[in-house]
Amino acid sequence: VIAARGLVKQFQGLRALDGVDISVGRGEVVVIIGQSGSGKSTLIRCLNGLVEPDAGEVLVGGEAVRTHSQADWRRLRQRIGMVFQDYSLFPHLTVTRNITLAPVRTGRATQAEAEALARQLLERVRLPEKADAYPVELSGGQQQRVAIARALAMRPDAMLFDEPTSALDPETIQEVLDLMRELAQDGMTMVIVSHEMGFAREVADRVVFIDRGRVVETGPPDAIFRKAQEARTRDFLAKIL
Ligand code: ATP
Ligand code: MG
Repeated sequence: VIAARGLVKQFQGLRALDGVDISVGRGEVVVIIGQSGSGKSTLIRCLNGLVEPDAGEVLVGGEAVRTHSQADWRRLRQRIGMVFQDYSLFPHLTVTRNITLAPVRTGRATQAEAEALARQLLERVRLPEKADAYPVELSGGQQQRVAIARALAMRPDAMLFDEPTSALDPETIQEVLDLMRELAQDGMTMVIVSHEMGFAREVADRVVFIDRGRVVETGPPDAIFRKAQEARTRDFLAKIL
């Protein structure tokens, strides 16, 4: 569904991505792990067009996103949902308006259709009673579930998550992970940057370890966690497990 080839991204001479290839099949769940500063966020942002790579290409459904086409990047962002660490809901809009804004703005749905969809999605993320609340009135875990509903409202081909639980209290982490597990079981294509190794083990089809802007090792969770081939992968896991 989504792939990248030879991605390079420099920030003032620093190579945040140094030739990354990745491909994610339909319904596949890929968890990206690696140290702070290794390029995980930069990679995931390239996959939905928030960061434009200096070299390499992103392909969605086998079609290359043309580097210089603003329209291509906009379409990419509409097809690939993104959930951030800090939820980034619009603070001045109600939960429902947060969810209906993009589908209405992009012409995907009428206001009435978008509202009906928002009600469905709020049921799905188990927050039907919060339809008219403002983000500030919700817990972190509830805000993150609204952020997930907002991304789903665009009916994306794939969902990207950048450390979706790392800003949450321990008690609320689980409710977000549970929702993500359900999405995975429903067949959603997902790319997740996470330090939740238990979740990765259980839900990932494939784990990708990146270090200094390169993919060092990739494989099923069992292979990575139990018998990683590369010393750098083993060192990293030894530190965090
Ligand atoms: P973390 O686990 O801390 O979130 P990460 O793996 O997501 O780290 P990135 O955010 O992708 O790492 O950053 C990779 C490198 O690129 C880092 O050295 C970072 O300082 C640098 N970098 C990222 N974004 C920018 C930017 N907008 N401007 C300058 N440097 C950046
Ligand atoms: Mg990051």
